[in-house]
Amino acid sequence: MARQQLIPTRLIPQLPCPYPRISTCQQNSSLTSRLNRLIVQRHHFEWTSFVSQWGRRELGCGHVSSSVKAVLLDESKEKIRLPKVDMWSVHKFGGTCVGTSERIKNVAEVIVNDGSDGKLVVVSAMSKVTDMMYDLIYKAQSRDDSYIAAADAVFEKHRLTATDLLDGEDLASFLAQLHDDVNNLKAMLHAIYIAGHATESFSDFIVGHGELWSAQMLSYVVRKSGLDCKWMDTREVLIVNPTSSNQVDPDFVESEKRLEEWFSRNPCKTIVATGFVASTPQNIPTTLKRDGSDFSAAIMGALLRARQVTIWTDVNGVYSADPRKVSEAVILRTLSYQEAWEMSYFGANVLHPRTIIPVMRYDIPIMIRNIFNLASPGTMICQPSMNVSEDDQKLDSPVKGFATIDNVALVNVEGTGMAGVPGTASAIFSAVKDVGANVIMISQASSEHSVCFAVPEKEVKAVAEVLQSRFRQALDAGRLSQVAIVPNCSILAAVGQKMASTPGVSATLFNALAKASINVRAIAQGCSEYNITVVVKREDCIRALRAVHSRFYLSKTTIAMGIIGPGLIGGTLLDQLRDQAAVLKEEFNIDLRVMGITGSRGMLLSEVGIDLSRWRELMKENGEIADLEKFTHHVHGNHFIPNTVLVDCTADSNVASCYYDWLRKGIHVITPNKKANSGPLDQVTGTLSYIFNNFIGTQSFSEVVAEAKQAGYTEPDPRDDLSGTDVARKVIILARESGLKLELSDIPVQSLVPEPLRASASAEAFMKRLPQFDQDMAKERQKAEDAGDVLRYVGVVDAVRQEGRVELRRYKKDHPFAQLSGSDNIIAFTTTRYKEQPLIVRGPGAGAQVTAGGIFSDILRLASYLGAPS
Ligand code: ADP
Ligand code: ASP
Ligand code: MG
Repeated sequence: MARQQLIPTRLIPQLPCPYPRISTCQQNSSLTSRLNRLIVQRHHFEWTSFVSQWGRRELGCGHVSSSVKAVLLDESKEKIRLPKVDMWSVHKFGGTCVGTSERIKNVAEVIVNDGSDGKLVVVSAMSKVTDMMYDLIYKAQSRDDSYIAAADAVFEKHRLTATDLLDGEDLASFLAQLHDDVNNLKAMLHAIYIAGHATESFSDFIVGHGELWSAQMLSYVVRKSGLDCKWMDTREVLIVNPTSSNQVDPDFVESEKRLEEWFSRNPCKTIVATGFVASTPQNIPTTLKRDGSDFSAAIMGALLRARQVTIWTDVNGVYSADPRKVSEAVILRTLSYQEAWEMSYFGANVLHPRTIIPVMRYDIPIMIRNIFNLASPGTMICQPSMNVSEDDQKLDSPVKGFATIDNVALVNVEGTGMAGVPGTASAIFSAVKDVGANVIMISQASSEHSVCFAVPEKEVKAVAEVLQSRFRQALDAGRLSQVAIVPNCSILAAVGQKMASTPGVSATLFNALAKASINVRAIAQGCSEYNITVVVKREDCIRALRAVHSRFYLSKTTIAMGIIGPGLIGGTLLDQLRDQAAVLKEEFNIDLRVMGITGSRGMLLSEVGIDLSRWRELMKENGEIADLEKFTHHVHGNHFIPNTVLVDCTADSNVASCYYDWLRKGIHVITPNKKANSGPLDQVTGTLSYIFNNFIGTQSFSEVVAEAKQAGYTEPDPRDDLSGTDVARKVIILARESGLKLELSDIPVQSLVPEPLRASASAEAFMKRLPQFDQDMAKERQKAEDAGDVLRYVGVVDAVRQEGRVELRRYKKDHPFAQLSGSDNIIAFTTTRYKEQPLIVRGPGAGAQVTAGGIFSDILRLASYLGAPS
């Protein structure tokens, strides 16, 4: 009989060595050896019994070792035994993996290429199909007869896919089945339409069809490529008990029994099984609930004691954060079961949270792999002791990853009468349970003055109502002050096993949130310390996620920049940024992204960062009309980058007047704008140095001024420089740095603009008339020279007298001030300790490169403040 021929020899794993072997397709060698190592560790206790079992098997007397006792079947019934102990590899293919006929072919190829002795493949419905099925029910119970057309669309989608994939008898038999199924579904939907209501078991029966069809199609395709393959309707095997919380609990003992029975009826080496669907103990079809196919695979893995479960999906593995929300998220090579569970529970939908428990019981590793990128090794989920790799040690961060849950509301039950009263928490949560709401996190301070917890937004109304009514008496008596709801929240969780007993993790986390100006509404951390959960406003969630993600070095310290005023200084700064960006990113982990550049007329905005090698052309090609409000909103409101800085390179007091508002919004401001009177560097500083360093008798005063103007060292109207106000501003800055509280009006300034020219209408008129006053300046200079002195225009801060002034002074030719050249600045500090010889600081004080360099260094200081290595 064919059945007898199959056992035991054909089902014995053909292992080349005593160790079970890993041979998943496209496995990279280091990962393979890691997995083999891992499995060796896992099984070295079993080896003795396995060898003897092996020996006996080769002799044809098929007894199995004690580790697979549950597999033993009653030989008198001549059943075909289901072999276990690492011969099975389980694969699960998600909806996108089987989304089209091409993809189904691709999946079949992956299955064929897996060299394992036994393969069990769990398959989801084609992508979107489960949603379509739920929609059929929704339409029917809303008495919308378009459910008929929608059912036809489901039929058509599968008919077309099958026609692409199959032919001959296979196609005919699949289409006949599909036809029958859809007719039955239509009949059922009609009943729902009449009743205006669908029971849960009707719904579960209907929505599970997507998996029935995809599994059948895939099994035909796999069989066509020559494998001995059967399809399994998992409703015959997987028995689950419904729970009160819209979940199901597998009955492992009963399911294992049924699996063995199924196998004895359908012995084969490759099984294509439906994900998602199951039956109740009364054989009523049910499901494992949304996204439940991962869970199906894990249960099957446990039932078979598989050596590995591979979850195939559309991303390279588990990322440190949802890759749709954090573009810099990195792939995690390994995760512990606990970490994977925490990540999935808190919203990383790459894995269904209940997937972990069944496989963890038998130490079965889970691989998450990308069907569209077979070269990527994926993420391995297993026991933490097994997964310590060099990669992990290098990735020092105690936080493995972050996940978020949106659409959450906080409930806060508050009142002085709660303190020290046993049973309050129990009363609150039993009320919440009674309305079937799921509590996602709980926080209670030890003052016991309030209990705060998060529930899904859609459940909060019922929760509030039940609490109001349950605690009516306490509220009326004032023992409870309120039951408050905070809607529109999100939960952000940081997950990592290394967080346990590592001091400073939460400090770093909250610091990153604070620096991104994110208000934390509630906090929870269990004593296992694997997870820190914070509740934030929903609109802050992505920014919060990005801020904490980048802070833990999982991505660059990213700063969104807006450059205002791309003139001489701003333009030079942009060029400096262009030249330094790559080094900053690679060597210092600082990612500076210029999200916008605005002048007074035009602006350029970018969603991801402007290409600085072409910013001038791009301004011309893609620029739009300047609008400072829109600009600010764009740069700061991108939600992609946690930190924003606006760099004001203008001399515009209107721009400066926005600083207060920006700072309040949490935007950092860096500026050399002297109108703001706070710029750390400004262009003018060196103008008067230049003039007096060059006013040495060879040229007239007006010629030197004209030359400085020509060289771009002066303001468009040189009177702005010669009036001394800018030096006075410098004096103010230095005075304030020294702790003096001086205002500009407190500083006497000796203006170098001749009295009669102060009212000249224009810069040109002023420059034209300036030579008339050369004589006066020449006399001053000559007098000084005759006495062996030079003239220098200086700002003085007198910390003892608490005053400042700006004036033209004479210095001996050997004084450091006399040695200046070009536009250099010089500052002499005369203090108690530097009395005989003042401390001198000297350097270039004007010019676009220097000023832009000063701004650049402030940007780097900001990055270091935000957490970049300095
Ligand atoms: P499947 O249909 O294969 O089961 P899912 O859509 O259920 O796929 O899960 C995969 C998706 O999970 C990915 O496309 C990704 O967008 C999302 N995802 C959310 N968080 C993470 C994360 N931390 N790592 C990887 N993927 C994530
Ligand atoms: N098809 C089911 C769903 O979309 C199960 C799954 O794909 O995991 O929920
Ligand atoms: Mg999924």
